Amino acid sequence: MIIKFKNTATEEQVSRLKEKFLKQGFELHESIGISTRLLGVIGNTISFDINSLYAYEFIDNVLRVQEPFKKVNRKFKPDDTIVDVSGVKVGGKNIVIMGGPCAVESKIQMKEITPIIKSSGGKIIRGGAYKPRTSPYSFQGLGLEGLEILENISSEYNIPVVSEIMSVDELPYFVEKIDLIQVGARNMQNFNLLKELGKINKPILLKRGLANTIEEWLMSAEYIMAGGNSNVILCERGIRTYETATRNTLDISSVPVIKKLTHLPIIIDPSHAAGRWEYVESLSKAAIAAGADGLIIEVHQTPESALSDGQQSLKPDKFKDLVVKCRRIAEAIDRTLI
Ligand code: PEP
Ligand code: MN
Repeated sequence: MIIKFKNTATEEQVSRLKEKFLKQGFELHESIGISTRLLGVIGNTISFDINSLYAYEFIDNVLRVQEPFKKVNRKFKPDDTIVDVSGVKVGGKNIVIMGGPCAVESKIQMKEITPIIKSSGGKIIRGGAYKPRTSPYSFQGLGLEGLEILENISSEYNIPVVSEIMSVDELPYFVEKIDLIQVGARNMQNFNLLKELGKINKPILLKRGLANTIEEWLMSAEYIMAGGNSNVILCERGIRTYETATRNTLDISSVPVIKKLTHLPIIIDPSHAAGRWEYVESLSKAAIAAGADGLIIEVHQTPESALSDGQQSLKPDKFKDLVVKCRRIAEAIDRTLI
């Protein structure tokens, strides 16, 4: 349940009430906004008599939260969460574009593409080191060597990096070398991994599962937040439908739904949604217009020879052009593509 305090509530009154709840075994989640102060009370509140709280003169309103997700719920925190990825702020008024190859293939490749992405307006470099491939015979990624390449280009070009983690065993390397830890679609409900990610305070990019509902996706974010890590960015990357003309169906409606249900930022991955580079620009523009907080886009110098997902990777000039167009849309809706 959520308690909304009157503006006249004193610090002492609030902390006495908080102590009372803590003694009864409830968990508390406080949100102090510009004009409202809220206290989220998490636990078995079913048998709690809400009416009894109105006896406190400093309480304005009490409301039960029906949704199973609590800490990610916008009712618990009305203001947008802004996630700081090593200085790049994702959420709020900002729109952030991330770009790079599907997979880190070599040091030379990353040294070539990074300055191109950066000068085109990309603020975070992507690159998979551990690749979840459908076929065991496909390129599986460079593993730890890939993370080391990312770490080097991050410090050489002064730009944060995002990469996908596949197993809890890899977590110490990611904590040390990677600015934004991606949980891929296939691991969205790897609850052991989510619990471990809740114990650190690095930003997490949580992709929506291939066939998961928005509520299931938010419950996965709740796992991370329940552990204490509130630095979560959601990423819509398309879902499985009966349609086969695109790799996945981009659920653009998830943007306004997510904005309503949660305070967490949401970005769009048009590359894995479309599965073809020709559709990436159009989906990107739609995502920005719909209110997404950013994009993560696959870019490759020579898509024809990419070791994974060349068919959906943009060439550098197309990426540059896309950023220019998205910037215009951002301005039209009073947002800033940083
Ligand atoms: C990726 O971003 O490299 C990736 C594998 O994406 P997804 O988990 O969305 O399929
Ligand atoms: Mn890919």
